[in-house]
Amino acid sequence: MSNNLNLSTYQTSHKIQKNSGMLIIDEVNGFCTVGAGNLAPLKKNHQVDKMIKETNHLAKIFHDKSLPISIFLDTHEDNRPEHPYPPHCIKGSGEENIINELEWLMESNALKVNKDCINGFIGAINLKNNENIFIKWIKDYQIESLIVTGICTDICVLDFVLTSMSAINHQIINPLKEVVVYSEACATYDMNIEDVKRLNLEKSMVHHQETYHNLGLKIMQMRGAKIANQIIF
Ligand SMILES: [Zn+2]
Repeated sequence: MSNNLNLSTYQTSHKIQKNSGMLIIDEVNGFCTVGAGNLAPLKKNHQVDKMIKETNHLAKIFHDKSLPISIFLDTHEDNRPEHPYPPHCIKGSGEENIINELEWLMESNALKVNKDCINGFIGAINLKNNENIFIKWIKDYQIESLIVTGICTDICVLDFVLTSMSAINHQIINPLKEVVVYSEACATYDMNIEDVKRLNLEKSMVHHQETYHNLGLKIMQMRGAKIANQIIF
């Protein structure tokens, strides 16, 4: 990475307003539980552990205050892998299940979206009637401010947030007005050259966790999302 690459983001605290909703992206075993699959952490990881702790803490407050929560769960059919990634979160493997710490949410009335693609905004389209169940959720709860948490900062979180910014401008997701990414409750993965060789992947798949986490935050901020490192009520 060039030394000229400035990945610093202006981060601020965000105060939750009445019409807020929370989104949790892909905090499933296949991405978060050590050894759970091809894309799971190889060893205990501080950024992932912090994300889980902060997500759980925030979700409990939202739940206690009866504020709406929605959950994306990466879930694939075994005959349709997702290029360029190795098979992951295959239906029935357990990788697609929410992590233990957030299991309690499955009993709640949170919206659960099983998605078979990186971008949850696209994954929320019901192919039977073309209805987007995420847009419907925003309208049903009249959500104006969306707090986003989850994994990976530079992949699924990034795609969703950038698409949402366009959706706001194109006025297809009213009354949503702002997207707030809670940086402490986001994480990405770490993959060094040894991992890449072991998994038989292209060398281009080497991925330095801290750099790409910050890169994801920076791009979302540049596109108009608010990056918050503290959420207050
Ligand atoms: Zn996937």
